[in-house]
Amino acid sequence: MDYDMLVIGSGPSGRRAAVQSAKLGKSVLVVDRGRRLGGVSVHTGTIPSKTLRETVLNLSGWRERGFYGRGYRVKQDISVGDLIERLHKTLDHEVEVLQHQFMRNTVKSARASVKFIGPNKVSLTSDNGDYSEVGFAHALIAVGTRPHRPRDVPFDKTRVFDSDEMLELGQLPRTLTVIGGGVIGVEYATIFSALDVPVTLVEPRNTILDFVDREIVDDFIHQMRDRGMTIRLGSAVKEIRSKPETAEVELADGRTIRSDVVLYAAGRTGNVGTLGLDVVGIEADSRGRIKVDPQTFQTSVPNIYAAGDVIGFPSLASTSMEQGRVAACHAFGVALPPPPETFPYGIYAVPEISTVGQSEEQVRQSGGAYEVGVARFRETSRGHIMGVDTGFLKLLFSIETRRLLGAHIVGEGATELIHIGQAVINLGGTVDFFVNNTFNYPTLAEAYKIAGLDAWNRMGRG
Ligand SMILES: Cc1cc2nc3c(=O)[nH]c(=O)nc-3n(C[C@H](O)[C@H](O)[C@H](O)COP(=O)(O)OP(=O)(O)OC[C@H]3O[C@@H](n4cnc5c(N)ncnc54)[C@H](O)[C@@H]3O)c2cc1C
Repeated sequence: MDYDMLVIGSGPSGRRAAVQSAKLGKSVLVVDRGRRLGGVSVHTGTIPSKTLRETVLNLSGWRERGFYGRGYRVKQDISVGDLIERLHKTLDHEVEVLQHQFMRNTVKSARASVKFIGPNKVSLTSDNGDYSEVGFAHALIAVGTRPHRPRDVPFDKTRVFDSDEMLELGQLPRTLTVIGGGVIGVEYATIFSALDVPVTLVEPRNTILDFVDREIVDDFIHQMRDRGMTIRLGSAVKEIRSKPETAEVELADGRTIRSDVVLYAAGRTGNVGTLGLDVVGIEADSRGRIKVDPQTFQTSVPNIYAAGDVIGFPSLASTSMEQGRVAACHAFGVALPPPPETFPYGIYAVPEISTVGQSEEQVRQSGGAYEVGVARFRETSRGHIMGVDTGFLKLLFSIETRRLLGAHIVGEGATELIHIGQAVINLGGTVDFFVNNTFNYPTLAEAYKIAGLDAWNRMGRG
C-alpha cells in the first residue's frame, strides 16, 4: 500500500481527517483537483461569504446605524474592488495556514482528479494529462458539492450567477434578485441589502429556513422587510431571462421581477460524477449524495469512508470537520464516545441567526410541558452601548426536568453566543444554571441570564 489514508478533497472534512490520521502516525495523501487547497469552504463558500459579510458591515457602518441612522456610511461609493481586496488577503492566509498545517504533520498533497480503479487503488489525472496510480488501505471521499444548475437557467456571469460565481461580480449590482430562501440565498440577499442594494428574495415554498424556530424566522423576515427588502414567498419561478439591459424572472403567478443581476441559489449537487464509484460498488442518489453509517462514516465498502457535504445534511463546514475526524479515528481503531445529540447551526445573514437543540415546534410535537424565556438585546446594557435595537434570545425549558431543550438567537453576535446554549444543553444543564450564575456585565451574553430568569419566574423553584 502506498498510503494508510487517501483523502479525496481538501475541504473541511478532508483536511481534518488528514491531520487526524497523521497525528495517529499514519501516512496520508490528500488529493484535490482544485487550483489551491481548501475546498469550497475556503475558495467559494464559507470563508469568502463571511469575509464579504464582514467587509460589508465594516465599510457600510451597518453596526453603527442604530445610533447614527440608516443614512450612515463609513465609506461612500463602496466598490467590488473594496470587497475583493479583503477577500483575497483572507483566502491567501487560510491557504497558507492549511499548507503549513499539512507540512507540520507530514501530510502529502497532490493536485489531480481522482478516480477509483479498485477497492484499494485510485488513478490520479492532472490537468496536463499526467497519469499515476496510488494504492491505499483506507480512503475518505470528501469531494463536496457544486451549485445545482438547472439547464433552463441562463447562467452567464453577466446577469445570472450561481453562488460560486457571485465572487466574480464585475461591479456591484444596482438591483438584485435572489432565487432560493435557503441559507446561502438568505445570506447573500441580506449582505447585498446591507449595502443598500434593493433586493428581492424569491422562494417557491411558503417559508424560508424551515428548520429554524418559527418565532426567530418571523422576526428575521420582519427585519428584512422593515429595511426595504422584497420577499416573495410561495412564488415558483417559471422562467429566467438574461437580456442586455436587465435580467427578468417570470413567476408562475404571472408577475415579472426585473433586476440588474439574478443569483440562483437553489440547492447543491455532490461531486461524484467522475469518481468511478461504480467500480467499487458505492451508490449515490440523484443529488449525488453518498449514504454512510451515521456513527462511523463508512460507505457500503468498509475501508472507504465519506464525509462532508457529499453525505448531505447538515452540509456545514463545522460538522464536516467533525465527521472527518471521526472517520479517521474509526479507520485506525480509535474508540470515541458517542457524539453529542445537538450541534449549533449558524446562519451568517444580516442579522445573524443561530440555533441549537429543539425549536418550539419540535418541543410542542414531543408533547412534554415546557416554558419559554425570552430576552431582547435592547434590554441589555451592552445592547444600549452598541446601539443594538433589534434581536432576541429565546430559551426553551422542560418543566418536568427543568433542562434547557433549545436556544435560538436572531441578532448581533448570534453565532458566537449560541455556544453557551450548546454547552448547557449538551451538559444537561437546567434553567437554574442561568439563574444562579453570574455573567459578565455589560455583555450580550447577559441575555441568557435575563431569558433564564424570565422562564424561572413562571416555572418557580421546581
Ligand atoms: C456560499 C456558502 C456559504 C457557506 N457558509 C457556511 C458557514 O458559514 N458555515 C459553515 O459551517 N458552512 C458553510 N458553508 C458550507 C461549507 O462550505 C461546506 O459544508 C464545506 O465546505 C463542506 O466541506 P467538504 O469537506 O465536503 O469539502 P468541500 O469544501 O466541499 O471541498 C471539496 C473539495 O473536493 C475537491 N474534489 C471534488 N471532486 C474531486 C475529485 N474527483 N478529485 C479530487 N478532488 C476533488 C474539490 O476540488 C474541493 O476542493 C457554506 C457553503 C457555501 C456554498
